Amino acid sequence: MQQTDFARTLIDWYQRHRRELPWRDTVDPYKIWLSEIILQQTRVAQGLPYYLRFLEAFPDVHRLAAAPIGAVLRLWQGLGYYSRARNLHACARAVVEKHGGQFPCHFEALKSLPGIGPYTAAAVASFAFKQPVAVVDGNVFRVLARIFGFEQDTAAPAARAFFFEKANALLDPQHPELFNQALMEFGALHCTPRNPGCADCVFQTRCLAHRYNLQQTLPVKGKKQKVRHRHFNYLVLNWKKKLLMHTRDAPDIWRGLNEFWLVETRRAVGWDGLRPHLLKLPAAATNGNPVSCHDFRHLLSHQVLHIRFYQLELKKEWKKLPPGFRWHTARSVDQLAKPIILTRYLETIGYLKASA
Ligand code: SF4
Repeated sequence: MQQTDFARTLIDWYQRHRRELPWRDTVDPYKIWLSEIILQQTRVAQGLPYYLRFLEAFPDVHRLAAAPIGAVLRLWQGLGYYSRARNLHACARAVVEKHGGQFPCHFEALKSLPGIGPYTAAAVASFAFKQPVAVVDGNVFRVLARIFGFEQDTAAPAARAFFFEKANALLDPQHPELFNQALMEFGALHCTPRNPGCADCVFQTRCLAHRYNLQQTLPVKGKKQKVRHRHFNYLVLNWKKKLLMHTRDAPDIWRGLNEFWLVETRRAVGWDGLRPHLLKLPAAATNGNPVSCHDFRHLLSHQVLHIRFYQLELKKEWKKLPPGFRWHTARSVDQLAKPIILTRYLETIGYLKASA
């Protein structure tokens, strides 16, 4: 589909179906910005009374900037995500202090203001100043992915740049404000997530999702992997400056690397909470208190490891070692492949020399 064909069809649809909303019939960047911040993560019906109350209390950016933050937060009460209110206030101050009370008209300059991301910057730049820059949000992902059959994972970090480029290529440079509003409204009212109105859609004959029945598949949303928190308790057994270690061989992180005696617990437990898990260790090592205890936090791509190292001294050698465990001298420990966090710990206690 040609850019002009797409834009014309979309804008025609918008002019017949658009909702009348107070921030639609203004080119005042303050009002447009205010509505966009309020409507982030908020439905129109819920945000509308807040928008009207804010405008009544703070009719322009100077009044908002001069207000105490407490008054802004009070008015925001009930909308949630209070960082938006703090950013709203900080942004108003920045506009007054750095831009003489005038919102900048360019996308990049708008993006540099507190709380203004690419979406809000594009909305203000195009609605207020007719700058030809496309808005990209969840509605835009959905509409473009369905009509053009884009299978990019919208949860992936590169998705925004991809859809931004596609939306800009389709944008009507003469009417960027209408195009952007139309695209968002079409996604919000017609090409909705669960029940898109395919039966009477202006794009029906050209939409790939409709042709191949992919409405429920597009846009692709890869599952965001949940971050897993794990609690590792390492028992660093020390006998005559040798450390007890083994190689990890379970199908888990760090397979093939060397580590100390590990007790993984579901939550953080202190030394006393750990004792029931230490029955296989020599009583002489675990009866008393550890020589030292160090905490580390280690981030992996989808895991956060909360690691506590307990250093334990043995007075005599533990000879009948469990399978896989060996005593290692400092030199051997130095040369073993081991997770970087173990190296950091050993450097912290001075067992290994800190690398430069
Ligand atoms: S035909 Fe259906 S899926 Fe395609 S744009 Fe229209 S409403 Fe969306």
